[in-house]
Amino acid sequence: SPLAKDGAVAVIGLGRFGGSLARELAEHGVEVIGVDRDESVVAEFADVLAHASRADATDEVVLRQLGIDEVSRVVIAIGSDLEASILVASRILKLGNRHIWAKAISETHAEILHQLGIGNVISPENDMGRRLAHLIRGHISDFLPIDEDFVLARTTPPVRTTDVPLASLGLRTRYDVTIVAFKRRGGTHWGIADRDVTLYADDEILVAGSPKKVEAFSELDK
Ligand code: ADP
Repeated sequence: SPLAKDGAVAVIGLGRFGGSLARELAEHGVEVIGVDRDESVVAEFADVLAHASRADATDEVVLRQLGIDEVSRVVIAIGSDLEASILVASRILKLGNRHIWAKAISETHAEILHQLGIGNVISPENDMGRRLAHLIRGHISDFLPIDEDFVLARTTPPVRTTDVPLASLGLRTRYDVTIVAFKRRGGTHWGIADRDVTLYADDEILVAGSPKKVEAFSELDK
């Protein structure tokens, strides 16, 4: 019945990305239906996933046979074969209302998946590259892209934002960012950055906003 598979997740393509995703989900007790057209890849997952099948996921009949038409969450983890990725995406979309995530390996690829109607297009290489660039440059110690135009960064407060209450700084008007939370040096927990909070130079902060604005803000002293 449809309900029986409602908690299951289908992962199509068990390459490096899909494979580690499927493994992680399975380790957390999720019923994973894994599909790959490569026999040797599937063999690696036989003991790990609830179901691991060798099949070509561009075939609609195959998708139904595997029960993927009964699953409410599907991840399309095919990157390098653009045609396969697009075909599978359109087949899955045709199955109707479900949550779909699809991996893209280029801007064009991402754009096409968006245009098809895939709600969550993920670009792990891109996101990771951007994130790593911030970490290597050293002005941001953690960087979390929430969406194309919204990020959260962990950094230190620019000098001009310290020693006075946040409310007096006009951060939103001036820099178009929001300081969400702060942690004192040697402190163990994060506090919400209310209007009356005063930051000090050796605090850590979480800043939210567009990637450009957050970046510019984090580099004010540099
Ligand atoms: P990664 O970089 O994460 O390893 P790849 O694009 O290299 O991603 O891997 C995609 C995986 O998807 C491969 O294991 C490949 O065999 C599988 N795959 C590609 N096309 C299909 C398809 N039509 N049906 C099922 N699996 C497919």
